[in-house]
Amino acid sequence: MTTKITKTETNWRNELTPIQYHVLREKGTERAFSGEYWSDHRPGVYRCAGCGAELFDADTKFESGTGWPSFYEPASANAVDEEQDRSFFMTRTEVNCSSCGGHLGHVFEDGPRPTGLRYCINSAALELEPKAESETDRT
Ligand code: FE
Repeated sequence: MTTKITKTETNWRNELTPIQYHVLREKGTERAFSGEYWSDHRPGVYRCAGCGAELFDADTKFESGTGWPSFYEPASANAVDEEQDRSFFMTRTEVNCSSCGGHLGHVFEDGPRPTGLRYCINSAALELEPKAESETDRT
């Protein structure tokens, strides 16, 4: 079961950077190629920048050419919530952190195998916990 984290908007504003707040709490989108992780290829775990929940594994990250970190599946089935987003005259599927409700990005059906999905996620919503060198060597 996931713990639901709720904080006041004032608390979120104090804890997050302006771009993290804009993406996570105001459903904003960072400019393409502007974020920290779009071309990061280190192994590790991507956690929610809002609450630290494990969201994506770097093993599922792929080069989408979009300028946003892209993954073909979430770390676990209940790590994220998906819902219809009809803003900007489009119908898209919004992806949110299921622990804190923070907005992460959108999911599209033009991804690679094995899922055919492309989770297009804002770097600002993520925090990479790189896998330690020793762990990488062992594999
Ligand atoms: Fe979260």
